[in-house]
Amino acid sequence: MSAEPPEAAGTDRATALALPDGPAADRLHVAQVAVPDSLVRALEAELGADAVRVDEHSRAEAGRDWWPLTFTWALNGVVPMHAGVVVGPADTEGVAAVLRLASEARVPVTPAAGRSGVCGGAVPVAGGIALDLTALDRILDVDDRSLRLHVQAGVFGDTLEAELRTRGYTLGHWPQSIAISTVGGWLACRSAGQYSTRYGKIEDMVRALTVVHADGSVAPVGGAGPRTATGPDLVQLFVGSEGALGVITDAVLAVHPAPAYGRFAAYGVPTFAAGLQVIRRVLRRGATPAVVRLLDPLEALRHNYSGAVLIVLDEGDPVIVDAMMTVVDDVATDAEAERLDDEIVRAWLGHRNDVSALEAAVRAGWVVDTVELAGTWSILPDLYERVTRTLQMLPGAIAASAHCSHAYTDGGCLYFTFAFESGPGLDAKDAVWRSAFAAVMRAARETGAAISHHHGVGINRSEYLPEALGPGAYADLVAIKHALDPLGILNPGALGLPSPFLPDGWSWA
Ligand SMILES: Cc1cc2nc3c(=O)[nH]c(=O)nc-3n(C[C@H](O)[C@H](O)[C@H](O)COP(=O)(O)OP(=O)(O)OC[C@H]3O[C@@H](n4cnc5c(N)ncnc54)[C@H](O)[C@@H]3O)c2cc1C
Repeated sequence: MSAEPPEAAGTDRATALALPDGPAADRLHVAQVAVPDSLVRALEAELGADAVRVDEHSRAEAGRDWWPLTFTWALNGVVPMHAGVVVGPADTEGVAAVLRLASEARVPVTPAAGRSGVCGGAVPVAGGIALDLTALDRILDVDDRSLRLHVQAGVFGDTLEAELRTRGYTLGHWPQSIAISTVGGWLACRSAGQYSTRYGKIEDMVRALTVVHADGSVAPVGGAGPRTATGPDLVQLFVGSEGALGVITDAVLAVHPAPAYGRFAAYGVPTFAAGLQVIRRVLRRGATPAVVRLLDPLEALRHNYSGAVLIVLDEGDPVIVDAMMTVVDDVATDAEAERLDDEIVRAWLGHRNDVSALEAAVRAGWVVDTVELAGTWSILPDLYERVTRTLQMLPGAIAASAHCSHAYTDGGCLYFTFAFESGPGLDAKDAVWRSAFAAVMRAARETGAAISHHHGVGINRSEYLPEALGPGAYADLVAIKHALDPLGILNPGALGLPSPFLPDGWSWA
């Protein structure tokens, strides 16, 4: 059995938890950069009046993303920060015109697409222009011989995968947010799909980009070969740059023939640590089944199993898939894992993109979020214990759980979920969120884990980035930002980079 092509969501891409009627208030304490009328008129002249929005609803919606803490704010009619104006160009030339005009007027520009980011990365922290990229929505070409896709940045994931399937291909990129996130957003945040052990993360799939610089100049980067030795990899400079170094308008990605065959299995092991060992050994033997997912005992409870549950799924050529699943079964048998009912995998497949529990938890007044950390096999058991134990010890803790969501020969990603009770009021909820998040970041630092595997940094992780990168690497990033965006107009606050529009050392709280 292989993954079913998704049904495209059509126009229903709204950020969860609608704002109440009426004007919204801003939560972030930053002086908003005014957008002069002359700039609005110039944007209308370049893009057409329909592509320029200044109404309250558009500016408020563009002022938030899927950072779960801000859903609590939304319930109270509060967004992080209104945009001054929202613009929606449909091609690279339009994006270039927006950036040229913004540079001339010294007005900040925050690129945004699906706004499914969970770190506040698409929030226009200092106001200014919200650059909505979702009108760049065309699939430009599929090269069958070379298995390469050329696609505009604003195409949503479900639309893309459905169209690829009708043509006999798959990208193999299945983030849980596939229906609310775009190609450009994936690239800007170094996204990972649930099938990443076979197909890779988005940074493994990308071959070339078109990037618009802060001054409006356009630079195609990469593309000539599947791998090159033509100096540093400039494609990867922009992958993960979260709209702070340039705007991605289209990309060339590697695709695969649509899978005609698939298999899956579920296994039970007594502990999370034992499950990690099974995954490590599978990968060590060279097997790369598409999905390798280990639920800790708390998350396994939803499958009525007491212990940890390992879900494995592969798809593609039958010879390869059968070999992968044979390796998995060998390793699981050696570890005395219990083979569980296939229904567990079917249940996971049926609900893997369902996030309705988030809204219910927020409405119940809970503070909830997820954090994904990456580390080597040597540290993962300790990282799991430290993070879950530390979270459980904080006041108000309801639950702290994890699953291993992505695996490599040298390590993996642990995806933690936490839920806390909190007193009423936004200040109380912000304080609970901050203390939980800080505890996770502290555990990452103490164990030597990376502070993000695929959500990115945005504004809610930005204060932790300098230490996570180390002073030398962080100074390099600041220098690159300055070279590519000397006026600092691109996405103030993202990646915690210094900005002329923000006080020194600004953080969201
Ligand atoms: C329910 C849910 C599940 C999720 N599951 C996953 C998952 O499985 N895997 C995963 O990787 N992520 C997941 N995410 C996080 C999110 O979907 C990803 O970060 C995604 O890559 C964001 O894409 P977007 O189009 O929504 O970008 P946005 O949220 O609009 O923007 C994110 C960042 O990218 C920048 N940006 C966007 N487009 C461009 C562009 N074209 N050029 C330059 N910068 C740009 C923005 O400025 C911002 O900094 C999930 C989120 C939710 C809400």
